[in-house]
Amino acid sequence: MGKKYKLIYQRKGCIGAGACENAFPEAWEFDIDKSEFATLKSPDAIKNDDTEELVFTEELLEQYLESVQVCPVAIMEIIEVETGKKIFPEE
Ligand code: SF4
Repeated sequence: MGKKYKLIYQRKGCIGAGACENAFPEAWEFDIDKSEFATLKSPDAIKNDDTEELVFTEELLEQYLESVQVCPVAIMEIIEVETGKKIFPEE
């Protein structure tokens, strides 16, 4: 079985630059209700007031990684679920 990863997004820090959506449009969109925030499209995403979290599989790692690396305000991280190792930002 492939590895699983978790993306954690501090949505309150989003400045609406849209870089994440440009990098991976299948994963991100702007929240229709609160249009200044990007939001995860996946129905598996857990959405709270302050954060959004999504567990995804290894084959999507490269694309999710690209979309968090371009965020200008560094409000997203990705960890490996099994080990807790931080994939981004690198420790
Ligand atoms: S790249 Fe960062 S600041 Fe820009 S819309 Fe996405 S989460 Fe928000």
